Amino acid sequence: MAEQVENTNKSGSADTIAVVGAGIVGVSTALWLQRDGHNVVLMDREGPAAGASYGNGAVLARCSVVPITMPGLLSQIPGMLLDRNSPLFMRWRYLPKLLPWLVRYMAHCTTSEVKRISAALTPIVADSLDQHFALARGTEAEKFIKPSDYLFLYKDRATAMSSPLALELRSAAVGEPEILEHEALRAYDPAFSNDIGCALRYPDHGYIEDPGGYVTALAKVFEEQGGRFVKSELVDFVIENGTLTALVTKSGNISCKNCVLSTGAWSKPFMKKLGLDVPLETERGYHLELINPNIVPRAPVMVASGRFVITPLKGRLRLAGVVEFGGLDAPASKAPIELLRTQVRAAIPGLTWESEREWLGHRPAPSDSIPLLGPVPDVEGVYAAFGHHHIGLTGGPKSGRMIADLISGKHSNLDMGVYAPARFAR
Ligand SMILES: Cc1cc2nc3c(=O)[nH]c(=O)nc-3n(C[C@H](O)[C@H](O)[C@H](O)COP(=O)(O)OP(=O)(O)OC[C@H]3O[C@@H](n4cnc5c(N)ncnc54)[C@H](O)[C@@H]3O)c2cc1C
Repeated sequence: MAEQVENTNKSGSADTIAVVGAGIVGVSTALWLQRDGHNVVLMDREGPAAGASYGNGAVLARCSVVPITMPGLLSQIPGMLLDRNSPLFMRWRYLPKLLPWLVRYMAHCTTSEVKRISAALTPIVADSLDQHFALARGTEAEKFIKPSDYLFLYKDRATAMSSPLALELRSAAVGEPEILEHEALRAYDPAFSNDIGCALRYPDHGYIEDPGGYVTALAKVFEEQGGRFVKSELVDFVIENGTLTALVTKSGNISCKNCVLSTGAWSKPFMKKLGLDVPLETERGYHLELINPNIVPRAPVMVASGRFVITPLKGRLRLAGVVEFGGLDAPASKAPIELLRTQVRAAIPGLTWESEREWLGHRPAPSDSIPLLGPVPDVEGVYAAFGHHHIGLTGGPKSGRMIADLISGKHSNLDMGVYAPARFAR
């Protein structure tokens, strides 16, 4: 349990709600709370969009309701780790630390678990575009939201149809895709190699033209509307008789009645201080940006064999994806970036670019692939809002609204039980 730490340089007040972590989840939560009339402080140790929300694939992937933990994953892992062209990487020294989480993660690779996870993800992502517009409409941030199709690219129709369960879940969430083969795919977008013989086209998706700029613009809107942004690092909580009364930060204490913990992949130690051992890992991911490319695809695409997206951002293509296990502290690896470079050359023949930018980020991954959204069981006043693994940009605005509704006591038809942090208290 958290220590009692002497109050110094106290700020905030007894009615303050402190949102810690200014990624897409925290910024969305702060804005929705502010709209509900609360006195909100938003805090980040670096600034808005300093974590995964900066460099992700930028796709508003409302069809992303299929977890990685599909049936059969266990038998595929050894082959994937040995295959240099596979999008799964492991920093082997980290394996002993990873194992307890990995064992729990793999336990979800059953059809019934996948269906349960998918049902939980659907309300968070399925109306993503509407939720982003609801958050940003009429503000400087709105210009970043680009409605578009989203395509999954495969070598042929048989490969595209090879996971009936994934297709069924996506169709249940957003409707059937259009199947584009050979000439039809070339007519839709001539950018791709002839080796890509089939695409599944999901309409009514979108992307964010610059995720870092977008989250920063949303944080600015929060400040312009009277919210306070504090650049500081959360260290601990002040808890009196089981109730939160203040946050301990590197620049003094902040009095508050509520805290929303939206610190992404860095949330585990804070939950431990609050008495809950959450199985949370980082699924490290990378992006490679190709500046001033000569070919720009019409819409974001997922190159299914490489599990990475190609998204047409302003003046650049962003290639993002890959899963690497290795913890929060290890430096970036070279191989994932090299893989992205090789695979984009294969997917888009003749692609050239002027320069590159590389980035490593941390997806916050709970072992059951369901974000934690709700009150922390044994400490009155603290709410969790993290664990959005591959879908945080898509589902951040809706998650923020769900947490704000909970805190504001608004009635919702949504069963919040499935997201409750208390599931890890058992
Ligand atoms: C390569 C890659 C590609 C992706 N592609 C997509 C995609 O196309 N679509 C999609 O929907 N999602 C995608 N994601 C996932 C998405 O980026 C994340 O799920 C989402 O950004 C998580 O947002 P967050 O606000 O929870 O966390 P973060 O954005 O990581 O924010 C956490 C914040 O907490 C702050 N913080 C941490 N500790 C402290 C502390 N002690 N005190 C104060 N502040 C603290 C950090 O500075 C950071 O700003 C991708 C992720 C990666 C890595």
